[in-house]
Amino acid sequence: MRATVIHAPGDIRVEDAPEPKILKPTDAIIRTVATCVCGSDLWPYRGLEPVGDPHPMGHEYVGIVEEVGREVSNVKPGQFVIGSFATSDNTCANCQKGWQSSCLNREFMGTCQAEYVRIPNAHGTLVATDEHPSDELVPSLLAVSDVMGTGWWAALAAEVKPGSTAVVVGDGAVGLCGVIAAKELGAERIIAMSRHESRQKLALEFGATDIVSERGEDGVARIKDLTNGIGADSVLECVGTAESMRQALHATRPGGNVGFVGIPHEVAVDGLELFFSQVGLRGGPAPVRRYMPELIDLVLSGHIDPGKVFDLTLPLEQVAEGYKAMDERRAIKALLTP
Ligand SMILES: [Zn+2]
Ligand SMILES: [Zn+2]
Repeated sequence: MRATVIHAPGDIRVEDAPEPKILKPTDAIIRTVATCVCGSDLWPYRGLEPVGDPHPMGHEYVGIVEEVGREVSNVKPGQFVIGSFATSDNTCANCQKGWQSSCLNREFMGTCQAEYVRIPNAHGTLVATDEHPSDELVPSLLAVSDVMGTGWWAALAAEVKPGSTAVVVGDGAVGLCGVIAAKELGAERIIAMSRHESRQKLALEFGATDIVSERGEDGVARIKDLTNGIGADSVLECVGTAESMRQALHATRPGGNVGFVGIPHEVAVDGLELFFSQVGLRGGPAPVRRYMPELIDLVLSGHIDPGKVFDLTLPLEQVAEGYKAMDERRAIKALLTP
């Protein structure tokens, strides 16, 4: 089969690789219908995270079940399925409390930009749709695999409530999905921080009420201007840099909450400052599996359309162009079809 391998920063290739096999009775093999490049894939691509030995890439996927291990009874060959980037058994103590992304048997996906993928913990991870969805719905279902689930979690972690004011830091796919989530959860005012016209447009389409293009302390000052000088109730931090985290914490009012879902890179929080800010802080990898049934329903009913974040579709063979276009911010998110 054909599969994506990163060799070094900036060096992404599609190569021949052996087809995956069932290794454990809880595994499944899927034939990939669509996969994509994630903002987090850009960290090693940009050399901001060590690459190490050449290795496969990709953690977002929808596909058709090819084969299941003997302990997988919830899905069967031929079904269209969606799964999270973090696999989970859905039965351990953490899963039962709704924290599937901290499953005691968790395995992170990392081989999805390929024609076939082995899904560990398939019994607890994969959710099948009743029917094969139409082609138009595939991008939005793919978004549920990570970015929509992560945006949803960002909004819940930031405790977005009906009538509240939410700020979204980051105009990548997760931030844009965070706008969708804030709207669904009833935020009255949604301020998207973005300086890119195409992303501003999509944020407004998804429900943002205001756009702030300033960054850093200037951006914080604009948020204060828009919120009676006190800051926002909820801030969704969807980037993961020291600057974006500082911006998020400073833009939140005392008693407000920051949900942080950008994987932190060299982020340090000042304990004394956090103490006096009276801001609540919660984040981490999204328990996407918890939200999947609800989000799949919202997509299938046409209520939300997070697939609009994919503004570039390429055959898997051109995966390198997908990374390049996202790195150069020519594309928000690249969808790949094997
Ligand atoms: Zn991702
Ligand atoms: Zn578990």
